[in-house]
Amino acid sequence: MRYDVIVIGGGHAGTEAAALAARRGARTLLLTQKLETIGQMSCNPAIGGIAKGTVVREIDALGGIMGRATDRARLQFRMLNRSKGPAVWSPRAQCDRALYRGAVRALLDDRPGLVLAEGEVADLDIAGGRVAGVRTVDGRSYQARAVVLTAGTFLRGRIHTGLEAGLPAGRAGDSPSEEITQLLEGFGVTSARFKTGTPPRIDGRTVDLSRLHRQDGDEEPYWFSAHARAVHPVQLPCFLTWTGESTHEIIRAALDRSALYGGMIGGRGPRYCPSIEDKLVRFSAASRHQVLLEPEGLDTAEMYVNGLSTSLPPAVQLDMLRSVPGLEAVEMTRPGYAIEYDYFPPTQLRSTLECRVVPGLFFAGQINGTTGYEEAAAQGAVAGVNAVAVALEIEPVEFQRSESFLGVLVDDLVVRDVDEPYRLFTSRSEFRLSLRQDNALRRLLPLASRLGLLSEQEMHAATGWLEREDEVHASASERRIDAADANVVLEAAGSTPISESCRVVDLARRPGVALSRLMAASGACYPEEQTVWADVEFKYSGYIAREEKAAAHLREVEGLRLPSSLPYQTFGSISSEGREKSARAQPATLGQALKISGVSRSDGQALLMEVRRLGH
Ligand code: FAD
Repeated sequence: MRYDVIVIGGGHAGTEAAALAARRGARTLLLTQKLETIGQMSCNPAIGGIAKGTVVREIDALGGIMGRATDRARLQFRMLNRSKGPAVWSPRAQCDRALYRGAVRALLDDRPGLVLAEGEVADLDIAGGRVAGVRTVDGRSYQARAVVLTAGTFLRGRIHTGLEAGLPAGRAGDSPSEEITQLLEGFGVTSARFKTGTPPRIDGRTVDLSRLHRQDGDEEPYWFSAHARAVHPVQLPCFLTWTGESTHEIIRAALDRSALYGGMIGGRGPRYCPSIEDKLVRFSAASRHQVLLEPEGLDTAEMYVNGLSTSLPPAVQLDMLRSVPGLEAVEMTRPGYAIEYDYFPPTQLRSTLECRVVPGLFFAGQINGTTGYEEAAAQGAVAGVNAVAVALEIEPVEFQRSESFLGVLVDDLVVRDVDEPYRLFTSRSEFRLSLRQDNALRRLLPLASRLGLLSEQEMHAATGWLEREDEVHASASERRIDAADANVVLEAAGSTPISESCRVVDLARRPGVALSRLMAASGACYPEEQTVWADVEFKYSGYIAREEKAAAHLREVEGLRLPSSLPYQTFGSISSEGREKSARAQPATLGQALKISGVSRSDGQALLMEVRRLGH
């Protein structure tokens, strides 16, 4: 059977690649090991967060599905960083795991031109030096000019709990994909090993919730997707508790029986999602660590124990859980485990995510050395639209660092490589004030339109949305507000009251004073989500202009020589990853420092300041 594009894998990268390839006009086949695990969240049931929430909105702006599926499945929504001002807000949602899977499947079923099929790919067809199709383990063969591989943690995956020998698996309950790495190595692609881990799950009915701190979601109605207004399910709370000395004693006593510390696993793990064993070793002075109990779904009492990722033996995991306040009588439904898997160092890819040595073959997701659903989906989007470009011989798309986190992610991967699982942060970007969740649609709608990724109805709705935001901007710029009305808002925000009426925009520039509240007090009611863009424009336009200047300046001074004795570890303005890796590599120039994986361009800007401060 012949298609334009074949996508291997139905995880977060694969589903996004397939959805966008079909939208760009390719006859697309998504082949995955099990149709019922399409959209499966291998680890925590949540989407979004710092930088990640912005990425979800970017994918949505391009016609992707992650934001829409999240809106249909969300059990709780929180806008993170609310206290720090709207320029750095980040949406995050807890999801019902089963509803999320169902939503992804339904959204894919709804895409004309996309066929879903169950099958494990074991071989690639190569003809004339380029990919020509795939073959499944049961002997079926499919042809296409472009293939997107998104096999996640499944490539020679081995899961570990305690000191048991690694069990072959792609994640708990799923078999690994054994042949693909060797096959690609035969073409000259190199591979390496990474690891990650997941915490135990517990029976929520056995938790003493009265001893825990309840965490509810925001009341403000927000959606991830700008194109569809899904009805949200019933909303649920999460619950906070902390480990204490007794928990730490149990873990320390069993450290040599952890797969991570007993020498069973060699690959590097994610710095920013450490296991509880790692946390105890790395932050030995900390007297407690946060544990967040997150609901797994509406139809289950199971809870996810965020913060206790571990590969200790199951009996120790149960002791550890029962030592946490509120969990004294808890029942464990599934033990945590660690997983080791193959990935392909991403400098082997072009910025379209096409593999340099096998034309027509694209890589996306965890197999490029990243971690996280959103990072995977972002790469799926990039690979999906570019696979179509190859298949149909149309325009490829290069995502720029200055335009999107998709561009930052891809550039970091293909230019600088990874030496530990890569995760997105706002600090990875030198344009972080410009790449925001509130302006993702504005930034990417022109591209979505040019590539034909949105339906007529979606284009109409998206354009209407931006027009309403413009209307808020224009209205706030002209509108006056009475002193009495304004002072109610100003006093609540701790800002100095005024004695005469003035323009709304003049007060909106004040830090901590929300435009939505000023507009409402002046008699013009708009939902908060429609006022955020104008609010940020009013408050931060000066900072944004400075940010652009600083980024341009950094490009000009990359040749600056760095002294060999720089005290990197004392540079508090640089990320801890940036400090550690610069100190190790001792770059000779600023440009060299910027090529080190883990030294972001905003680290580069901070380094430049530190060097100048020291008088070099
Ligand atoms: P996956 O979601 O893994 O999807 C891969 C898909 O490919 C699956 O559908 C699979 O069936 C299919 N497939 C594989 N091989 C074949 C084949 N040969 N033929 C056909 N189909 C195939 N991320 C974090 O950010 N933080 C964490 O703490 C974290 N912990 C994790 C813990 C565990 C145990 C695991 C397994 C993952 C964890 N992750 C974590 C990673 C997160 O799950 C991934 O980043 C994300 O799922 C990657 O998406 P993906 O689409 O690349 O791959």
